[in-house]
Amino acid sequence: MTMSFTKGLLIDGQWLPRDKTVENINPSDLSDVIGRAACAGPGDVDLAVDAANRALADWRQTTPQQRADLLEAVGNAILARKEEIGHLLAREEGKTLAEGIGETARAAQIFKFYAQEALRIGGELVASLRPNVDIEITREPVGVVGIITPWNFPIAIPAWKIAPALAYGNTVVFKPAELVPGCAGVLAQILEDQDIPAGAFNFLPGPGRSVGQAMVEHPGIDAISFTGSVPVGRRLAAAAAATMKKIQLEMGGKNPMVVMADADLDLAIDCCVQGAFYSTGQRCTASSRLIVEASIHDEFVARLKAATTGLRVGDALAPETQIGPVVSADQLESNLRYVHNAKADGVDVIGGDRLTLGKDGFFQQPALFLGVDNQQTVSREEIFGPCAAVIKAQDFDEALQLANDTEFGLCAGICTSSLKHAREFKRRSMSGMTMVNLPTAGVDYHVPFGGRKGSSYGPREQGRYAAEFMTTVKTSYTFAG
Ligand code: ADP
Repeated sequence: MTMSFTKGLLIDGQWLPRDKTVENINPSDLSDVIGRAACAGPGDVDLAVDAANRALADWRQTTPQQRADLLEAVGNAILARKEEIGHLLAREEGKTLAEGIGETARAAQIFKFYAQEALRIGGELVASLRPNVDIEITREPVGVVGIITPWNFPIAIPAWKIAPALAYGNTVVFKPAELVPGCAGVLAQILEDQDIPAGAFNFLPGPGRSVGQAMVEHPGIDAISFTGSVPVGRRLAAAAAATMKKIQLEMGGKNPMVVMADADLDLAIDCCVQGAFYSTGQRCTASSRLIVEASIHDEFVARLKAATTGLRVGDALAPETQIGPVVSADQLESNLRYVHNAKADGVDVIGGDRLTLGKDGFFQQPALFLGVDNQQTVSREEIFGPCAAVIKAQDFDEALQLANDTEFGLCAGICTSSLKHAREFKRRSMSGMTMVNLPTAGVDYHVPFGGRKGSSYGPREQGRYAAEFMTTVKTSYTFAG
């Protein structure tokens, strides 16, 4: 069934069809064309940015209650359709149906959370150095926010950028990833159905190199929030500097999961398998380095192998599936190249092959790279697929040193029953998020999300920390005689 999930571009409250469209294919079944999405051109960026600037004057003056009501209604509308949207998500991105519905519900909760945050915008009153002078520190909208999102969380990542942008009084130009225009189009329609004022939210599906790039270079956009790959993020940061845009980048990870000998090993296996392979490993918080203490290494690896080879890979929509397909031909080819090169380098690889199942899809067996050190390619580069390197550490100190020895710093986990190890790890990990006895992937939406080093740039996303990026601070002095 082909769906018309997007009527085109949404600019200034109007749906504009475009002749140029792209096919949206189901990665579980390449014969299933889900729909066709309209494709914006660079000229559309001008139209959308103009509309967002015109709408800003009124939108920033709306009351917190008006914005809260709108965001609450959007959250409720998403929640009411979570099965349908979750199904579309699984069909276009390839995570399992349960994961797709879960992600959709999370997107709804994010809108509902920021509905409340819109009511909590506050400031400070500070005593001046001078007599009879008051100083107020207030937060104001940053302006027009350009939002550029990746394919791996087709509705949650747009939600966690769009909801705070609108809550704090900004207007939005939103460009989703090319591979997942379906969920993005439904989200745009839901925002429009809730009568968001024309131009406050504009939707521009289209290619990164033309539409995305034009957004980053456009002088009418005040801030860009981006999630995606490191090379693109770097390019955007440089381009944003030319027009002095505020920029927030969430990029890759090479997240370690340390397993200490004192860990509950059942729990540790669960954390490693979930963290490395669920959502087909296509999460920036995925555990792609499993660092195991030497004294339990062989026993742990034997159990890990059994758990990994037992995972059920299949059609994202089939109820028994645990691991859906890889998102695209390009991503699959890249994953397989890592597997091939690792084998050529003499690495002991478990799994990793392309799977032929009943339907023609991008299926790959989860891969473990055994006996590698922390310098090998599979331990350094983010693969972004169902692949994890297993690295041996002699003791806690070496495990911590290996965990920190990476260009990235998004999330780091440890499985241990020792309070001392847990405490030390939390304090000395060079990452933005740490997990004790939990998978590295899977975070709450009401607290900050982000990392250090090559993983993130700019202020944190999510929770009330999102205000740092989505607002600008004003310091006002008043002399009262
Ligand atoms: P991923 O492959 O994980 O989606 P990318 O960094 O390739 O990561 O893409 C993330 C988002 O950035 C997508 O919406 C994509 O269209 C967009 N994008 C890609 N290249 C550029 C670019 N040069 N300028 C702006 N946006 C871009």
